[in-house]
Amino acid sequence: MVTPLSLFDLAEAFAKPGCPVCRLTKGNVEHYVYNLLFEGIIHPENHEAFRAGRGLCNAHAWLLTDFKGALLNTGIYYRGTISDLLKALDGPAASVARSGNAARRGLARLMGSDRPSSALADRLEPTGPCVACKVRATSEELYTRTIGEQIGDRRLAEPYRASEGVCLPHFRMALRHTQSAADERALVEIQRGIWEALIRELDEFKEMHDHRHTGEYMGEEGDSWLRALRAMAGEQGMFGVGEAE
Ligand SMILES: [Zn+2]
Ligand SMILES: [Zn+2]
Repeated sequence: MVTPLSLFDLAEAFAKPGCPVCRLTKGNVEHYVYNLLFEGIIHPENHEAFRAGRGLCNAHAWLLTDFKGALLNTGIYYRGTISDLLKALDGPAASVARSGNAARRGLARLMGSDRPSSALADRLEPTGPCVACKVRATSEELYTRTIGEQIGDRRLAEPYRASEGVCLPHFRMALRHTQSAADERALVEIQRGIWEALIRELDEFKEMHDHRHTGEYMGEEGDSWLRALRAMAGEQGMFGVGEAE
């Protein structure tokens, strides 16, 4: 649900470096993970959801190491995960499961998938999403919806125009939330201006780089390569492996 609060959060985040959706979402995810590790440890449903995801995805699992004082609770969560996996290993014997697999493999090949099948491997798959990714998706949805639906509001459009813009994955999401052709045009016009300015800075950066030996001062464009990377990929650790959007 789009709230005035999400609009003001965005307006404030646009004044800071990088994509505001990435920034706000990372904050929400970190807050969630912090709660999960500390107050959340006493709630059985947290353990169930954590185990269903076989722990957290790669990007979010490593976030756990940032929270000093949470080592014991990290161990407790993962103990539950590994205990589930040990139970899964005790299912039907691998050799028995495999005998039925030749037919399935043939079918998979016919269907255009050559991935070998294994009932055991399937049992080790997660049965639910990474809990932090779920929070991430909800937060991204809220903020990109706010951008898409409220782009006509000057309180949002003006800080957006003066900012580094939103990253490419979040720009696509925001576009999908626009409610009219006029809103889509307004959104595109702002983001186009930001990308064009970035291209000019990258050209200046290249030029300065070529003439480095002259000792010419490198200004704002000096980190344009990093801003370009961030503008295309989103913030570091923002998306799990192969599951942006
Ligand atoms: Zn972003
Ligand atoms: Zn995740």
